[in-house]
Amino acid sequence: MEKLLITGGAGFIGSNLVRYIINDIGAKVCNIDKLTYAGNRHSLSDLNDTGKHRLVVLDICETEKVTSVFAEFQPDYVMHLAAESHVDRSIDGPGEFIQTNVVGTYSMLQAARGYYRDLDKEKRLRFRFLHVSTDEVYGSLGDSGVFKETTPYSPRSPYSASKASSDHLVRAWGETFDLPIIVTNCSNNYGPYQFPEKLIPVVIHKALAGEPIPIYGKGENVRDWLYVYDHCTALYTVLTKGKIGETYNIGGENERRNIDLVQDICTCLDELSPRNDRKRYSEQITFVSDRPGHDFRYAMDITKISSELGWIPKENSVSGLKKTIKWYLENEEWIRLCLEKV
Ligand code: NAD
Repeated sequence: MEKLLITGGAGFIGSNLVRYIINDIGAKVCNIDKLTYAGNRHSLSDLNDTGKHRLVVLDICETEKVTSVFAEFQPDYVMHLAAESHVDRSIDGPGEFIQTNVVGTYSMLQAARGYYRDLDKEKRLRFRFLHVSTDEVYGSLGDSGVFKETTPYSPRSPYSASKASSDHLVRAWGETFDLPIIVTNCSNNYGPYQFPEKLIPVVIHKALAGEPIPIYGKGENVRDWLYVYDHCTALYTVLTKGKIGETYNIGGENERRNIDLVQDICTCLDELSPRNDRKRYSEQITFVSDRPGHDFRYAMDITKISSELGWIPKENSVSGLKKTIKWYLENEEWIRLCLEKV
């Protein structure tokens, strides 16, 4: 049975990924997570009885302890997702972003490098270190154009700069120490188990609570939206079929202006959970001062992953959004438990 060491597996993408790897792939997972405000045991509680998931509550910056986890668990693969991930928080306090995203990635690379060096030939051939990063490292686009894997880096927020740094470190460990690394850069994920500080869960939560639904600026910023389950299938595809040393862009082929996305969520909520007063949720939309340095548009060219590895996203914004909204309506207790931590 394959063994995967996943970091950040109690977070949004991580918990969906751990569930996918255990339930759909049938592999074993050791999950290193510090359980910051964004990490949540409740996101993994359905996996307790599988016997295939072990949560190690640990800061990835603690290299010696991470090294011991490698030695004990003997992973075939590493998928590194642990990070501070919210742009607004990186503006209010960049320190944690440098610590976890840059120093933490360095720590993971050092631990992986020592482990890889001592593996036997067969395990060395199979081993991969997959680093999960963001489209935000490429900077901001105007009305046209797309990010390719060859687009020069131009990060503009403390978050994206810290992720860009980590990407460079990962590639350097590949070139310098022959660590078999692969990097993925993906667009905005959405789906179940996303902490209610990111756009889609915030809108759902505020709408249902009868509170103002905040939108930055005029809501004209454009993002590509990737359903988290599609992202998980892409990550495993890259892990097992991708070429060592390469970068793969992952996107949902689903560009939306923020205002249009929020309107779509409101319309879906009108249908699935109408307001008691029969008014429309869109009446709660409120425009707030824009985020400093707010990138205008991100868009991904996914030709490489689709043509070389045969992966394409399955959900579109209508189907993915409906699934997501239904999940939040059925899991209000999960949102309450999340918000208890902040
Ligand atoms: P998240 O904030 O929901 O989860 C991050 C997880 O990492 C949490 O469980 C947290 O407890 C853990 N963590 C934080 N610091 C840690 C540390 N020092 N040691 C161990 N664990 C720590 O993030 P997410 O949205 O699931 O994102 C996962 C990865 O994907 C990140 O690397 C992020 O940069 C990248 N990414 C996310 C998106 C997105 O739309 N969510 C888009 C592109 C890339």
